[in-house]
This record gives sequence, C-alpha cells and structure tokens, in this order.
Amino acid sequence: MKKKVYIIYTGGTIGMVKTDKGYAPYKGYMYKELDAISELKADIMPEYVINEYETLLDSSNVSQQEWKKIAKDIEKNYHKYDGFVVLHGTDTMAYTASALAFMLEGLGKPVVVTGSQIPLWEVRNDARENIITALQIASGYDVPEVCLYFNGKLFRGCRTIKTSSDSLDAFKSPNFPLLAKAGVDIEVYYHRIIHNTNKGLNVLEFGDFPIAVVKIIPGMQTDVLENILKPPLKGIIIEAFGVGNIPTQDERLGRVLKEASDRGVVIIVCTQCLEGEAHIGVYETSSMLVEAGAVSGYDMTTEAALAKLYYLFSKNYDVKKIKCLVEESLRGELTKPLLVGVGDQR
Ligand code: ASP
Repeated sequence: MKKKVYIIYTGGTIGMVKTDKGYAPYKGYMYKELDAISELKADIMPEYVINEYETLLDSSNVSQQEWKKIAKDIEKNYHKYDGFVVLHGTDTMAYTASALAFMLEGLGKPVVVTGSQIPLWEVRNDARENIITALQIASGYDVPEVCLYFNGKLFRGCRTIKTSSDSLDAFKSPNFPLLAKAGVDIEVYYHRIIHNTNKGLNVLEFGDFPIAVVKIIPGMQTDVLENILKPPLKGIIIEAFGVGNIPTQDERLGRVLKEASDRGVVIIVCTQCLEGEAHIGVYETSSMLVEAGAVSGYDMTTEAALAKLYYLFSKNYDVKKIKCLVEESLRGELTKPLLVGVGDQR
C-alpha cells in the first residue's frame, strides 16, 4: 500500500512567481506545479494531499499564530498520514522548525520542514529536489522528529540556523551532526534519531509572551539594556561574546541584570559564535551574569532558545523550574558540556 504524506504549504519562495513588486506567492499554484512533476507519480513515491494556507506568507510574517496552526493541522491529521512535510519560507524556517519541535510533544512520525532558495517557477531551481526528497523521507524512513531538509541534508530542526541568504546550501546545524544525507542513496544515521518513549501526540500551544533577543556589542550602553529589561519583559536571550562574556566595566550593568532577574525575568546566555557553547562562570567577564541568576544556553541556537522559552512559559512552570529545564536537553536541542575551565588545565 502506498504511504501517505500530508503537505502543509505556508508560503515562501518555493511557491512564488515573479510579479511587478518582486517575488510573491500565488494561490493554487503549488497544486499545479506539484502535479506537473512526473517523479512524484512514481511508484516509490507516497500519495500526498496539500493543505494550502488561505494566506500564503513570506516567512518574515510567520508568527506564533502560524506555528500553532501548523501544529494543530498536524494533530488533526496525525492518524491519517505516515508523515508530514511543511513547505515554508527559508528566512524563518529554523525558528518554525524549532518551535514545532517543542510544540509537538510525544511526536512519533516524521515532520520534514523544507522550502527553497529559488522558486519552482524558475527553470533552474532547488525546490524540486527538496520537495521530492522531503516526501521520500517523510514517508519511507523512521525519523520521528521535526527535521529540516535542505540541499541533500536532513537536520534536527531545533539545531538549525539559516547561514546563507543566497547559497543553495542555506542551512547549517553547527553543533549537531546530520540526521541523514541524501547523496546517491539516502543514508539515515539512525543512532542519532530520537524516538519518543511515550508516543501519543499532544500539541502545546504557545502563549504570547514578551521575550527579547539581544546581541551584546563592544561598549554596550547599560541604558539600552535597562530599557529592554523593563516590565512586561518575561525572558531574554543574550547573545554574548565567546563562552558567555559581556563588558563588565560598568558595574551598573550587573545591578540592572540582577534587578530584572529578581523581578522574575529569565535570562538565557547563548553565544554569538556560530560554533561552540556559552557557559557562564568560566571567565570573570561573565560573573555579573552568574550573580544575576542567568542560565547558560550552552550550544543552543538562538532560534531553539527562543522556542524553548515560549514552551517553558506556556507550561506555566515557575521560574526556578524554567531555569533548571533551560539547561537540560528536552528535544535534543542542547548538548550539556563536560567543560573543563580554562584555568583547570594548568
Ligand atoms: N523571503 C522568503 C521567505 O522566507 C525567502 C525564502 O523562502 O527563501 O519566505
């Protein structure tokens, strides 16, 4: 019997056509285009249905509402299909893949998020291959995770970052290896795949919480951070230097961070380096963060840290529990290091 895949088409370059105002999505176009791809009719390919969203979005406009809609549509169709493919713009694809990873609790089937840098409409495009392989993976392989497929690579969704605005190799997973590689064959690295033990899908809807992401810069003004940390802020992801360092010459910065934390603001420290981890307390220049009660995001991407914060706030956990869980891996989004301090080696 043919496998069945449910395709959710949210918008993005993949289905765009050229208009007077630049590339824009076009309703009904995806059905026609997919129908014209003869490979999709091959025996080895699954049957599919497409749920084209009423409003097709450039992914810059995707928000928690769309994350919730995608998750709910997967839930509604969960028992009828073998796997799910989400067609999405590339700009915020890593955020959506991260959010879905947390929202879809107990997931036991593949959810493959993909898109393209060049629309299907163009003669030379990356859309065709991405769609064909995403459909094959969603229907024929035991990868019950939220994945992101792009340019021959299957990533864990909550480990990805968009690293190129114009290369067809647009995504990276800097701190976790591939889940599969699609070369001559599709080679799945099954030992890396997470299998949920308590299967039974539950969608956790994210609430709308005020969360900020701030990249630390040399000479950062304390006033700027103080303004961001004001109520009603509930959580902040600080992209710090290196292993979690910030400028510490202005002592007021430490007080501002501590006051916010005492008010219940959750402070997660990630690194602005593409690879490696943030681990506060290694250098003196992160002591203000330690004293303020901030927690290390280790090697989490900012995208995953953001999704995780929404998730933990939506669970209504208290701040202590949230901080504790930030530092644990819930979906394979983080590797807790066995870090040796710089000085410990001497
Ligand atoms: N702006 C587009 C989007 O993210 C880019 C793309 O899909 O590649 O929706």
